[in-house]
Amino acid sequence: MSDRKVIVVGAGNAGLCAAISARDQGASVVVLECASEDERGGNSRFTAGAVRVAYEGVEQLKELMPDLSVQEMKKTDFGTYTQDQFFDDMARVTEYRSNPDLVDLLVKQSMETLLWMRDKGVRFVPIYGRQAFEVDGRFKFWGGLTVEAWGGGPGLVDALFLAAQRAGIEILYETRAIQLIEEDGEVCGVRVRRGGRMLDLEADAVVLASGGFEANTEWRARYLGAGWDLAKVRGSRFNTGDGIRMALDVGAMPYGNWSGCHAVGWDRNAPDFGDLAVGDGFQKHSYPFGIMINANGERFVDEGADFRNYTYAKYGGEILKQPGQFAWQIFDAQVSDLLRDEYRIREVTKVSAESLEHLLEKIDGVDASRARMTIDEYNAAVPTGIEFNPNIKDGRATVGLPVPKSNWANRIDQPPFSAYAVTCGITFTFGGLRVDNQARVLDMEQTPIPGLFAAGELVGGLFYFNYPGGTGLTSGAVFGKTAGASSGSSTTVTNGSTIE
Ligand SMILES: Cc1cc2nc3c(=O)[nH]c(=O)nc-3n(C[C@H](O)[C@H](O)[C@H](O)COP(=O)(O)OP(=O)(O)OC[C@H]3O[C@@H](n4cnc5c(N)ncnc54)[C@H](O)[C@@H]3O)c2cc1C
Repeated sequence: MSDRKVIVVGAGNAGLCAAISARDQGASVVVLECASEDERGGNSRFTAGAVRVAYEGVEQLKELMPDLSVQEMKKTDFGTYTQDQFFDDMARVTEYRSNPDLVDLLVKQSMETLLWMRDKGVRFVPIYGRQAFEVDGRFKFWGGLTVEAWGGGPGLVDALFLAAQRAGIEILYETRAIQLIEEDGEVCGVRVRRGGRMLDLEADAVVLASGGFEANTEWRARYLGAGWDLAKVRGSRFNTGDGIRMALDVGAMPYGNWSGCHAVGWDRNAPDFGDLAVGDGFQKHSYPFGIMINANGERFVDEGADFRNYTYAKYGGEILKQPGQFAWQIFDAQVSDLLRDEYRIREVTKVSAESLEHLLEKIDGVDASRARMTIDEYNAAVPTGIEFNPNIKDGRATVGLPVPKSNWANRIDQPPFSAYAVTCGITFTFGGLRVDNQARVLDMEQTPIPGLFAAGELVGGLFYFNYPGGTGLTSGAVFGKTAGASSGSSTTVTNGSTIE
């Protein structure tokens, strides 16, 4: 047991996992959170709680989700999602840029970390609603995403706050970390702004878990590029890059895809920042079963290129590039029962009509005659003879279109028709700090900065260009638990040997 004092900056999933894990080591832990208690939980609270985890089969899932009933196991094909599959998905979607050592830790620790969270009181359940469709009386999970926290993001963070409270961890709300305090090249505290005053708090170690810079308009334009200032922020308004800036100020190395981010199709009329009452409901993720057209009435992406888990995080950026930064998603009656729950929320920008002509008259800001041609050309390119199956990549691909649709291509010809207006919603930024496999922050020489650790969105080097759905929470949990264990202990374990 240690007598160390650890300060964690940020009370989202990563910060809370770090705090609880440091406490497990016997450290006394204080968490600084700039939001009020009402707005606590960061981006983590806005999520559906989907977590990507490697598993060998249903037996391992049963360990994680002891409530899984015999009935559920009978009617469901959970398949496997091995460590190799998880590793390959990370490599493939990031175009082989992801740091293999970081990915290795993420993948290998994913199940162990979730089991640890379960022991701390977080409950997990299968994501039936969103990740498995019923075909011939059986559900089949697809896309490597099988598990979610019970109660979604709010359920996850409530359980973690409760665990933190039980462990005697102090959380200081409305307390913004401003600057790291250093002595002889070692981080030994944090300068904070609290109640209009500046205070210096001492610590043996500091864990930065304060998110990326997605809520900072100026940094978005500066690092992501022109136009990104116009994106809507899907979640917390507090993730403005403070942790990254503070670390760079003490010599940390910038790392990862600083010009990249996770961004999705998001309701065109959503507020500028996330709304906790709506959560992730403004997203519109069922485009693989329809088409998307821009203001010119043209399609611009392959909506069926892959399972939505592997395309949604980059298609927000594609929507941002369109004239007026918007698109309409169009569906017909054949797929209306496949649309996710977020299509049925009260705050949706939707039009519907009994004919395509009337639908196109109603959709705002689009060249209707060109849109009609696009739909006619698309319908003519849909193959017959390949069966539509939403549970697999069915290969039902259009033929001869300049912008193909590679799976799930159905004619759009069954009334009623519906259309949903989307713009770009940014989730989190990919660039951040370089950490090692003990979550220690590295400096420009790639040497650990004594006393400084990091976890969550602000860790760079994991995601480039794209992201496999459900990895953000897993990454926050794995690196959070690791950062907590490293910062809370007075000994450091390196390749099996222990260093005082
Ligand atoms: C709408 C939405 C849906 C999502 N769905 C999923 C999903 O289903 N599965 C998944 O894996 N990922 C999902 N994500 C991504 C996921 O939310 C993030 O990857 C993850 O929650 C990041 O955790 P974190 O702890 O690093 O950051 P956060 O949870 O954002 O926590 C950071 C905290 O730091 C605080 N903070 C910031 N600056 C300071 C400062 N200077 N001083 C003190 N505190 C500070 C913030 O207020 C915040 O509470 C979603 C994101 C959004 C927005």
